[in-house]
Amino acid sequence: TADFPRNSPSPQDVQAMDKAHHLHPWTNFGPFEEKGALVMSRGEGCWLWDAGGRRYFDAIGGMWCTNIGLGRREMAEAIADQVTRLAFSNTFVDTTNEPAALLAAKLASLAPGDLNRVHFTTSGSTAVDTAYRMVHYYQTAMGRPEKTQMIARDYSYHGSTYISQSVGKRPGDRVPFFRYQETGIHHLTAPNPYRAPEGMDEAAFCDWLVAEFEAKLAQIGPEKVGGFFAEPIQASGGVIVPPEGYLQRMAAICRQHDILFVADEVVTAFGRLGHWFASEAEFGIQPDMITCAKGLTSGYLPLGALIFSDRIWQAMAADGARWFTSGCTYSGHPVACAAALKNIEIIEREDLLGNATRVGALFEARMKALEALPMVGQVRGRKLMICVENVADKATRALLPEDLDVGTRIADTCEAMGLMVRPLGHLNVMSPPLTLTAEDVGMVGDTLERAIRQVADDLVREGVKLG
Ligand code: PLP
Repeated sequence: TADFPRNSPSPQDVQAMDKAHHLHPWTNFGPFEEKGALVMSRGEGCWLWDAGGRRYFDAIGGMWCTNIGLGRREMAEAIADQVTRLAFSNTFVDTTNEPAALLAAKLASLAPGDLNRVHFTTSGSTAVDTAYRMVHYYQTAMGRPEKTQMIARDYSYHGSTYISQSVGKRPGDRVPFFRYQETGIHHLTAPNPYRAPEGMDEAAFCDWLVAEFEAKLAQIGPEKVGGFFAEPIQASGGVIVPPEGYLQRMAAICRQHDILFVADEVVTAFGRLGHWFASEAEFGIQPDMITCAKGLTSGYLPLGALIFSDRIWQAMAADGARWFTSGCTYSGHPVACAAALKNIEIIEREDLLGNATRVGALFEARMKALEALPMVGQVRGRKLMICVENVADKATRALLPEDLDVGTRIADTCEAMGLMVRPLGHLNVMSPPLTLTAEDVGMVGDTLERAIRQVADDLVREGVKLG
């Protein structure tokens, strides 16, 4: 047992309780036990206020998710209305609820091609988990029970359950204290042109990546490979935009070998790239399954979805007497689905996809200009999904020593200036709400530029050599 304050806790009490009792996602134990966490208490649009009343512009967008912006009263009303009407009813086959049914139909109308079937989950991780299991179900139903192996890419992030973490593979996540599923999951090189083998241009690199996939298939035996998992743009691995034509060529190889293409659109769906889904609209591919979450409710409530094709449904259901033994108590939660419906209505009514395209182009251009700064090796990404890669030497692309923690130093400097950007190792990433304005773009660009210059100057003063 521990003490719990009787009266309303002060911001300091909240921070102390958090530090004493709360294990955060991706905690770095040393700094956390020393400093604790910043307590946030209010949000409106793109802005956050901490418990002490300081204001920050949230260029992180929650965590790639606050697409419509925070503090929407009509969202609060839609949620309250659904809680009052029907706070919960399970969706285990014999019952459904209106928001779940409407949302499934709405997603089917927005998703590309014959992706007309929806299974609801609680998060992106559980959507990816379910996709993994559905690959097995589908391939077995098709009479190919040996087609169980999965292929994914280095630097991908697909979630935090045992399987979704094992499908993902960011080097920093693979700490020796945890274990990962090693058998049955294979990883290819990340399609990051900035880190292509020396002397290879983007087109040659694309050929090389495709050849690597074909060689991997030949090695495993394509008759044993059931699914390919890919984020259209690898988000948390560092906003990796693949070479032109890469996804289309990978999808064609998958089709040729009856390998299901799972597009993990947990980040890229619901407007971040100016479309409901990026697979077809941005990259010209028709996946067999799409996983999504985050922007589905703009973070107002937890919800994930696996959207899959009629073809997969028909194969799974063909026998007429099979069970789909997967799903969560909260699959199709009426309140979360009502929030998603309201979220989609707001995106449509305010043309936030159009805004993401228009203001996203300004954001992309302003961020790209940071490449003129010392220490910025590359700015990459599209529209409202941007990454700044900091390096020691712009010519050789050599990294700064890890212990300098340059991403965190820049993020902390920005935070002191009232701007939140996310540190990811030596990178800084941004994914602001789709409501971003041209004025915001100027402010974010100028603030980040000042912060990078300041950190670079500090590093030089500390004796670090920057090329
Ligand atoms: N897939 C991708 C591409 C993600 O970026 C994330 C989370 O960042 C996930 C899956 C996992 O989603 P969640 O954190 O909702 O479980």
